[in-house]
Amino acid sequence: MIVTRGLTKTYGRVTAVDGVGLDVHAGDRYGLLGPNGSGKTTLVRMLLGLVFATRGEIEVLGLPVPRRVRDVLPSVGAMVEGPGAYPHLSGRANLTLFDAAGPGGGRRDRRRRVDEALDRVGLAGIDRRPVRAYSLGMRQRLGLAAALLRRPRLLILDEPTNGLDPRGIREIRDLLTELNTDGTTVFLSSHLLGEIEALCTRVGVMDRGRLVLQDDLATLRAPTGRVLVGTPDTDRAVALLDGRVERSDGGTLTVRHPDPAALNAELVAAGVRVSAVAAERRSLEQVVLDATTTSADRVEAA
Ligand code: ATP
Repeated sequence: MIVTRGLTKTYGRVTAVDGVGLDVHAGDRYGLLGPNGSGKTTLVRMLLGLVFATRGEIEVLGLPVPRRVRDVLPSVGAMVEGPGAYPHLSGRANLTLFDAAGPGGGRRDRRRRVDEALDRVGLAGIDRRPVRAYSLGMRQRLGLAAALLRRPRLLILDEPTNGLDPRGIREIRDLLTELNTDGTTVFLSSHLLGEIEALCTRVGVMDRGRLVLQDDLATLRAPTGRVLVGTPDTDRAVALLDGRVERSDGGTLTVRHPDPAALNAELVAAGVRVSAVAAERRSLEQVVLDATTTSADRVEAA
């Protein structure tokens, strides 16, 4: 869906994007994670032909960008650097204007498209208010509605939940998951690790212009070969598992063992009570910290 090779952008002496090889597959919910200034926006703008690369190649939906960007854009819904809208017009009027540059059709078709898009982002009831009276969250949703008008195969969104409260973030997350389930590939950037962990199936991590990590979340978070066991009988469990317990912390044991079910059976058979048992997995935060040289506090774990 998106492939880049050696993609580089320099501004004078600043290398904003440095040799990036993105690989976004059909059906992905791909999250591009990186602190502010790591090059995400520049990268997203290059994908849409808004900024020219200094070096490297870009393919979106199988076509080269920027050369064939006109053929690509009708199938892509995009939101970059906040939603643009005329503040004195209503959300509906803005969408209607935006739709006029879209796939066409009769008046009814266009009205239906706008209605559906407003409805999908939860703005159907308040669409007549001028956009200047919108909260940031409403503007963000209007931007998404605009991105949805073309029923895109691919959504490219730069920081789509910027400025939203937790409820708004949740709504956007649910909406993007729903669209993805219906077949839309979602590519988004964010500096919020928790957001990407909650939403995405595939992750790319930017650090000072470079893509330092790219993989499926499930692979990155593969089991570590340890099992976390909750038990009120810690002493008996430790004695039974002789040498295999790496840590004991407030009723939770970290045990070197590949199989939670087998370990559970072993404990229960020996009369040890087990209140919880689960394979240990690395958190995305740990994965990112291991992959980046940027100081940890710049990628927000919230
Ligand atoms: P943010 O989330 O703050 O937008 P980002 O990860 O999207 O951060 P970019 O905006 O792509 O990062 O910026 C990457 C680097 O390129 C920064 O050092 C920035 O100052 C620089 N940069 C971006 N655009 C320009 C420009 N038009 N002229 C000069 N330098 C630029």
